[in-house]
Amino acid sequence: MISFDKALETVLAFNFCPETEVVPLAEALNRILAADVVSDVDVPPADLSAMDGFACKKADLDKPLTVVETIPAGHAPQKSIGAAECSRIMTGAVIPAGADMVVMVEHSAEEDGVVRVVKKGGSANIRFKAEDVAAADTVLAKGALITPAAIAVLAAAGNPNVKVYKQPRVGILATGDELVEPSKVPCIAQIRNSNSYQLLAQTLACGCRGHYFGIATDTLLSTETTIRNALNESDVILISGGVSAGDFDFVPAALRKLGVDIKFNGVAMKPGKPTLFGMLGQKAIFGMPGNPVSTFVVFELFVRPFLLKQMGHAYRPLIVKSRILEAFSRKKADRLEFIPVSFNHAGLIVRLAYHGSAHIHAFSAATGIIAIPAGTERIEAGDDLDVRIL
Ligand code: AMP
Ligand code: MG
Repeated sequence: MISFDKALETVLAFNFCPETEVVPLAEALNRILAADVVSDVDVPPADLSAMDGFACKKADLDKPLTVVETIPAGHAPQKSIGAAECSRIMTGAVIPAGADMVVMVEHSAEEDGVVRVVKKGGSANIRFKAEDVAAADTVLAKGALITPAAIAVLAAAGNPNVKVYKQPRVGILATGDELVEPSKVPCIAQIRNSNSYQLLAQTLACGCRGHYFGIATDTLLSTETTIRNALNESDVILISGGVSAGDFDFVPAALRKLGVDIKFNGVAMKPGKPTLFGMLGQKAIFGMPGNPVSTFVVFELFVRPFLLKQMGHAYRPLIVKSRILEAFSRKKADRLEFIPVSFNHAGLIVRLAYHGSAHIHAFSAATGIIAIPAGTERIEAGDDLDVRIL
């Protein structure tokens, strides 16, 4: 059995140098940028009004101002502003020559084409040319995750198409004689396969597409055949169940028969102790304990950073520090333990009722997980803890 840190290091040491592809902007969400993005324009492109109001000279605020034209957004000014003049201007319209501020419409009174400023002071209400981005500025760096806000940046910088890293093909399979698909009503000895659908969803949430290869029964032949099918069409495979040392756990033996180099099969963590990681040439294999919570946690802690790294992104989990509402103890403190938590209305950490690694229900309400180090038996109310946001 190896430590959690060593296991993560082993997983992240794997690198298959992703290829790149070009995708339409509308399909780039959650992908990873494969090149720096440079703006081809200034943003804003000119000095623009930040308000609806009147563009004029600061020096003229005490004078009645004659309105010389109306400037809508999207239309260039036709006239410049002379002494005691102004133009009616809309938000986003170009500031006319001669003006150095915009008086908000709410701070003015207009009668018969003459404007009086009724409230002075405040800002110029101008968004200056290139104050957000100058042409040739790098606006997003290679390796960045494309979020909805990054999509806006890409659009503003003139990118109808985006160069991204290719996604690894992720194959997902389950093992277990007791499993039936969600559409079936299980008999007394059966349960529904939830792990595969959870893993497909977790994979999708990482910006990859998973492909499902079905349920292997608990025989060496079925396990080996299903894994081989998945390996033939995948770069990464995620297997749930069958990795422990029970009489019907055939995953390690099947992987060995297929020539997989098993890097570890046992991590000092709870849940997730029998976790397995192996390689076959340029393909990676994760074997996860079948208990749904174990599968969930192992994906979050190992597979998510792995998949993102394979797509060129250095994943850092979002950690939020807070205090825990109530004390709790654990009887066995021999392993690093991960526990689901949420936050109460005051932002304090609340531990979720959790009966063990089959209890995925508790995890469905979790906002994050906390890690209790090996050797720590008790957490006191008010202790500061790091919450890893899910
Ligand atoms: P295993 O790791 O195969 O020993 O399975 C551990 C526990 O997880 C058993 O109670 C299994 O029934 C359960 N389990 C295994 N695979 C799945 C799955 N795909 N979906 C839900 N539960 C599972
Ligand atoms: Mg099993």
